[in-house]
Amino acid sequence: MLTRRQFLLTASVAPFLQKKEQIITIDGAIRPQQIGKTLIHEHLLVDFIGADKISADRWSREEVLKTVLPYLLEVKKQGVKTLLDCTPAFLGRDVHLLKLASQKSGLQILTNTGYYGAVDNKYLPKWAFTETAEQLADRWTTEFEKGIDGTDVRPGFIKIGVNPGPLSELHRKLVRAAGLTHLRTGLTICSHTGPALAAFEEIEELQRTGVHPSAFVWVHAQGESNKNLYTKAAQMGAWVSLDGMGWGDFENYASWIDLLKSNRLLHRVLISHDAGWYKPGETNGGNFVGFTAIFEKVLPILRQKGFTQNDFDQLLIRNPAEAFQIRVRKT
Ligand SMILES: [Zn+2]
Repeated sequence: MLTRRQFLLTASVAPFLQKKEQIITIDGAIRPQQIGKTLIHEHLLVDFIGADKISADRWSREEVLKTVLPYLLEVKKQGVKTLLDCTPAFLGRDVHLLKLASQKSGLQILTNTGYYGAVDNKYLPKWAFTETAEQLADRWTTEFEKGIDGTDVRPGFIKIGVNPGPLSELHRKLVRAAGLTHLRTGLTICSHTGPALAAFEEIEELQRTGVHPSAFVWVHAQGESNKNLYTKAAQMGAWVSLDGMGWGDFENYASWIDLLKSNRLLHRVLISHDAGWYKPGETNGGNFVGFTAIFEKVLPILRQKGFTQNDFDQLLIRNPAEAFQIRVRKT
């Protein structure tokens, strides 16, 4: 006989094993065509205290919501339906907070599994140093199959982070663990990366693990100054994520997107603000950067460059729908 938990698992996992083309929000699976206008890289809360000191009682969910909710409602007015919260475990990932934020705002939210090795491993739990890639992949796959932190909330993507490169052995291991998790779950891999040196090493490591570049999102690609390398990565099938638009530099972002469009690679581009976020330990969570610069600043510049509504839908709806579908992508 099935226990209630096993029944729920079977009930929640079986449908997407049969039907492909699903996206996993914190409230369960949706069809890709339900994703709507999507911001693929934002943060509700980030706590930079470090993996050894972090704990959810460093913030009050009520207080955080008071700060965050107006920004979520503001972005909803821009027609946004879905937001990917890119805060990893040990940096403040809080699925209870995300649930409340989703309920109160009506936005669909995705969360993640994986570990963030960037900033010299300050946000890695101690077992990340000693366990094998397979063991880490087991942990991340378990979150996908059983839920996060004792809840039924499942990750909708993998989020890891690496230093700018060349990659250390430890960071290569994180990439391999992400690759193995992808092969088991079909979750897309977002990696905080920056420069192309690290991005191409990650793509290579994933290919060695058997994962196609189309399962990889080159996060913070704006950190690479040689813009021709966007073309190279996109031609390999990787997603180029230009995701710092909350922080200015709008003309440049628009010209990089325009370059990719002129190379017929707009279908490999993801855009977002990397904005937010409530900072535990600061008065009222510190300064919060909203999620609207794309609509208010960047799209008008692109419109002047001849971008159409169809191009905007590609960037904000169709590409996220394609990028974050649960689907194993092998080499
Ligand atoms: Zn971020």
